[in-house]
Amino acid sequence: MSNVLEVTKLNTAFWTPEGDVKAVNDVSFSIRRGETLGIVGESGSGKSQIFMSIMGLLASNGRATGSVKVAGTEILNVPTAELNKIRGARMSMIFQDPMTSLNPYLTVRRQMTEVLMTHKGMTEAEAAEASIRVLDQVQIPEARRRIGMHPHEFSGGMRQRVMIAMALLCGPELLIADEPTTALDVTVQAQILELLSQLRRDTGMAIALITHDLGVIAGLADRVMVMYAGAIAEEGSVRDIFKRPQHPYTEGLLKSMPRLDAHGLTRLDTIGGQPPNLQSLPSGCTFRERCPYAFDRCAAERPLLRETGEAGPDGFFRAKACHLEELGMANKPKIGVVA
Ligand code: SF4
Repeated sequence: MSNVLEVTKLNTAFWTPEGDVKAVNDVSFSIRRGETLGIVGESGSGKSQIFMSIMGLLASNGRATGSVKVAGTEILNVPTAELNKIRGARMSMIFQDPMTSLNPYLTVRRQMTEVLMTHKGMTEAEAAEASIRVLDQVQIPEARRRIGMHPHEFSGGMRQRVMIAMALLCGPELLIADEPTTALDVTVQAQILELLSQLRRDTGMAIALITHDLGVIAGLADRVMVMYAGAIAEEGSVRDIFKRPQHPYTEGLLKSMPRLDAHGLTRLDTIGGQPPNLQSLPSGCTFRERCPYAFDRCAAERPLLRETGEAGPDGFFRAKACHLEELGMANKPKIGVVA
């Protein structure tokens, strides 16, 4: 299956008077057509800044280098006019707060039809009909009447659906969803995740799902990329990683997650310590201050992301950035006993 997104050696830094904040460090990955890739990590892990770099939405003190190709076309740092042809049309992004992308002063009809008239050259009447069809697709009841309403007249969950409809208007091949359900209550959260899953099945678009919540990843993603201190710590199929994590950080994240199959009261583990300062990353492994398995080499040398040589039953390869493999079998701790 071909890739809709290919990111190679992406580095993103923000200038500050105290020195550069290195938010994304040498990140490479791809997303296949039709797949859902989950990107998980604590706040400050760089997961959102990867996609803000891709969308050309960095703050004015930010700069990104490397290569980002959407369906084979280079888009990193291209002129805004060129990027605008790709944004919305081939890839679009939704956020935790729908009001980030909706204008509170304009009706939903005006906001949706303008997009289609500009990008697709439709007449106002054609654009209105097409918009109503997309509102139906995201299950807004009485779409023909409600398209005339302003965003604040919708409930939180319905506003999220309107934002998803806006993102789908031009039929993107890639939808980037940044914490799309974090602000919603549990029931509405489940409905929005089910909607995204159904839209992917119906349209064949790929989804990049950015979240701090492993439960959301488990429900929707095929593959997961675990981020720490601006770099990929581990990646692989959701099933493999949840069952047998190979990176100590992933293991810590999974042990701190409540489990539905736990019997009685169980104490959740936490990962002690704090993520490193992105203005002055430590030498060696950036996780070593918090890692229960750290050994000499971890302070001396930063581990590179390497394929482990095992592909899961679904064909997804696994990779991790950790020196543990290099310890002799006799010294190697048993990690990944989570399932
Ligand atoms: Fe822990 Fe060392 Fe692996 Fe880093 S490289 S995660 S410190 S064992």
